[in-house]
Amino acid sequence: MSNKNQLQEHTSSYYAATSNDRSDYPALRGAQTADVCVIGAGFTGIATALCLSERGYKVVVLEANRVGWGASGRNGGQIIAGFSGAAKLRKMHGEIISDLLWDMKWRGNDIIYERVNKYAIECNLKSGYVDVALKDRQLGYLEDDMKELQRRDFPYEYKMYDKDETRKLLGTAAYVGSMTNMRNGHLHPLNLCLGEARAAVELGATIYEQSPAIEIVHGNKPKVMTADGHVEAGIVVLAGNAYHTLEKKHLSGLTFPAGSYIIGTKPLPQHVIDEINPQDLAVCDLNEVVDYYRLSADGRLLYGGRCNYSGREPTSIKASILPRMLKTYPQLKGVRIDYEWGGNVGIVMNRIPALGRINGNVWYSQGYSGHGVNVTHVMGEVIADAIAGQMEKFDLFAKVKHHRIPGSQWLGNQMIALGMLYYRMRDLF
Ligand SMILES: Cc1cc2nc3c(=O)[nH]c(=O)nc-3n(C[C@H](O)[C@H](O)[C@H](O)COP(=O)(O)OP(=O)(O)OC[C@H]3O[C@@H](n4cnc5c(N)ncnc54)[C@H](O)[C@@H]3O)c2cc1C
Repeated sequence: MSNKNQLQEHTSSYYAATSNDRSDYPALRGAQTADVCVIGAGFTGIATALCLSERGYKVVVLEANRVGWGASGRNGGQIIAGFSGAAKLRKMHGEIISDLLWDMKWRGNDIIYERVNKYAIECNLKSGYVDVALKDRQLGYLEDDMKELQRRDFPYEYKMYDKDETRKLLGTAAYVGSMTNMRNGHLHPLNLCLGEARAAVELGATIYEQSPAIEIVHGNKPKVMTADGHVEAGIVVLAGNAYHTLEKKHLSGLTFPAGSYIIGTKPLPQHVIDEINPQDLAVCDLNEVVDYYRLSADGRLLYGGRCNYSGREPTSIKASILPRMLKTYPQLKGVRIDYEWGGNVGIVMNRIPALGRINGNVWYSQGYSGHGVNVTHVMGEVIADAIAGQMEKFDLFAKVKHHRIPGSQWLGNQMIALGMLYYRMRDLF
């Protein structure tokens, strides 16, 4: 039995329209074996597969749709160091892990830069990022951040800007201050994911697209079943994040899908670019429910934000995001919008990424709560290290007790929506 007609090509995003190539890996037919079978070809799955392939493991990746089809091929493209829930993790494990967390915070940036160079991946990687404060109280976060960068002698450029300086930096009076960091930056995420997948294949990994895993049969050597075949592997890595529904008994209620949406303008004239973002920075505000934006390589403003917690697309993405963009940039009134799209992120109640193992040999990593470009690359390495027996980093996360909401996905989403209402209220003050 084949369920091919339910499978999807890429969403109609700016990224799909400008990808370097289209992946066209075959669907799985028949039986395969592997050291590791990875389920899901987003950043988590591909970063894990590439790391393992570099270390000589035989890896098979199963992707339900296309490489980068999920959040990894649709996101804001902002490389922002760190992961959500880090402060809670430090509180839980104590100051002793402070240095380790700091290293992990920046590790994803290093991995991305290394891979882009090593595998010559064309993905418009650019350094330059700015955190922007909408309220005076948010300036405190920037000051804390600044102090930590100074204390640790951070080797890359960073700088605080006051309100007037920020207005010059970004051509908007929306912010009370900001801080740049040139080790963060932005890129074309779909092209990065496709390039990393190609690198993994060149190192011996096998990727099957349009091959959803429908069940994991547990055992000494778990079998991952698809409609037309299966993969028997020593280890399975579940990397379907907000898009998978596997292992319900162990994972349901742990991660919830939340929608995030982006619009893309037409390419802007140079004088507008010079006014709104002359340094070509990725921009993200400090609210709980963030707005984020940047310029694409061809000069479009890609403006994103506003989550919903149902995973259901709004009737009009443009109608919900455009007013936010115009609030920041009233001077863009009337500009043509060429693209609108969205995708699902995986939210975890306590915001700490959910890593763990089921029956010893089925590993999972999901729920980055809106971050991900950086942290997925860290987690790919953390899982590869753990598979090789180095458990320290993996255990930091695996030992966290997560609250699950029992019952249906629907009930869970309603409760998360209530929780987010609380955060949105906090953003108002
Ligand atoms: C609109 C948007 C903007 C964002 N902006 C940013 C940003 O600027 N910076 C940032 O750091 N993060 C951002 N994020 C978050 C980031 O994109 C994600 O955290 C990250 O991409 C998650 O990667 P992943 O590989 O875990 O999941 P995904 O990329 O979602 O990949 C999961 C894959 O698993 C596949 N799959 C699911 N079930 C199965 C199955 N049963 N069998 C086989 N395959 C399966 C899916 O088809 C999918 O391809 C954004 C997310 C969205 C949606």
